[in-house]
Amino acid sequence: MASKGNKPTTTDAGIPVSSDEHSLTIGPDGPILLQDHYLIEQMAQFNRERIPERQPHAKGSGAFGHFKVTKDVSRYTKAAVFQPSTKTEVLARFSTVAGERGSPDTWRDPRGFALKFYTTEGNYDLVGNNTPVFFIRDPMKFQHFIRSQKRRADSNLRDHDMQWDFWTLSPESAHQVTWLMGDRGIPKTWRNMNGYGSHTYMWVNANGMKFWVKYHFKTDQGIEFLTQEEADHLAGADGDYHVRDLFNAIQRGDHPSWTLHVQIMPFADAETYRFNPFDLTKVWPHGDYPLIEVGKLTLNRNPTDNHTEIEQAAFEPNNLVPGIGVSPDKMLLGRIFAYADAHRARIGANYKQIPVNMPKCPVHSYSKDGAMRVQNVSDPVYAPNSKGGPQADGKRYPAVETWAADGDMVRAAYTLRKDDDDFGQPGTLVREVMDDDARARLVSNVVGHLKAGVSEPVLKRALEYWGNIDKDIGDRIAKGVGGK
Ligand code: NDP
Repeated sequence: MASKGNKPTTTDAGIPVSSDEHSLTIGPDGPILLQDHYLIEQMAQFNRERIPERQPHAKGSGAFGHFKVTKDVSRYTKAAVFQPSTKTEVLARFSTVAGERGSPDTWRDPRGFALKFYTTEGNYDLVGNNTPVFFIRDPMKFQHFIRSQKRRADSNLRDHDMQWDFWTLSPESAHQVTWLMGDRGIPKTWRNMNGYGSHTYMWVNANGMKFWVKYHFKTDQGIEFLTQEEADHLAGADGDYHVRDLFNAIQRGDHPSWTLHVQIMPFADAETYRFNPFDLTKVWPHGDYPLIEVGKLTLNRNPTDNHTEIEQAAFEPNNLVPGIGVSPDKMLLGRIFAYADAHRARIGANYKQIPVNMPKCPVHSYSKDGAMRVQNVSDPVYAPNSKGGPQADGKRYPAVETWAADGDMVRAAYTLRKDDDDFGQPGTLVREVMDDDARARLVSNVVGHLKAGVSEPVLKRALEYWGNIDKDIGDRIAKGVGGK
């Protein structure tokens, strides 16, 4: 019997039920009856509660908040979301990459830093990481890369030999691997890490001027990290350490924030810059393109239903708004297809009708039907039409986020420029950014990782790889694994 004040339980059809605890049986000890449709609804629904987890980035959580523009960057972009003083509601999701939904938060891995801005001109998604670079620069290798980080076919175990086999045969990974094996490879909390758009994007201003842009969300909580020992302990003691930290911080009113800076490269510079500025394995040195402040991201509201608001959240880098476009970064161009396709496969064709994915501005699209469509469609259902249906406004929204391209069709790496080598920037990171203590932790982390299952011939290649990044670090790692 319902106690005073509680709402009466109903079935999903709203029919009041007579018990939360007892199945319908013939006598208290008798068999269960098939006509107990409430029991059957409970069991059937339970069997279908899980949706497929994300392929990478399965373990994570997130929160809502807003982005407030504090500086005037309107000379670089006309995007409504970045106009002076604009405040936009935002959803953020943080995650690890390789682990499954129940995996520990403190495994060494890059972290996803995915944002959805509910702008007045449609949803703008910036699907970044806590690192400014990535392991590869061609989407053809992405699936293979992720498989090398996940589980073997035979034992279903993760395997360092497989990881280093891929990395050492893909020298473009050296920058991201150096970053990953350093202090930033295990953030203390999601609140204590930066977020980067990583790719180069295009911004276009109201006069049609184009710029290349990189995003840096710098944590206002300060960068903090976990040592390998601390992370290993937490992986057993509290696998959900990062999820818990974010949820509890927001719940107690300690709202985390990040200050957005951008690097702006004039459009024409890309042609002659000393390395390919669209290569995702490289940063643009701050000395060449300094950080320009834009505004502040603040997270202040926890989800009330993690499944509908976070697990079913669908971030997609193809959600770009007028004034923001893609660049010739091949990885970004691959992601433009892959994310929406993943959502269709994982959640269903009408995933954009789930409230967390719905824009907060009017939608006038011609999409219709499909499983689980819940919003009514009205005629006319085709364009062009003479029946008053939506019409694209090419004058107000011209296709300006574009660049010229020509040439023969090829399967080839980017054309090499003067400074396009794979080991230069990781070498700078080791020698000029890290201090002695950070270098010592880097050596210890790599030695520990290599000793946990990497065998010849992969081990020899791994030592060469580190020697190419930095001779001294390479020698110290070789000594640590007993290879020299
Ligand atoms: P700067 O000295 O201007 O920048 C170095 C940056 O390195 C810092 O601003 C900080 O980035 C970041 N950093 C500090 N400690 C670590 C660490 N342990 N692991 C990873 N990153 C760290 O030099 P440059 O711009 O010329 O870049 C030099 C090297 O710094 C690059 O080769 C790259 O490896 C690394 N780096 C550069 C970034 C860039 O966008 N230019 C961004 C991040 C790293 P932040 O301020 O973002 O916290």
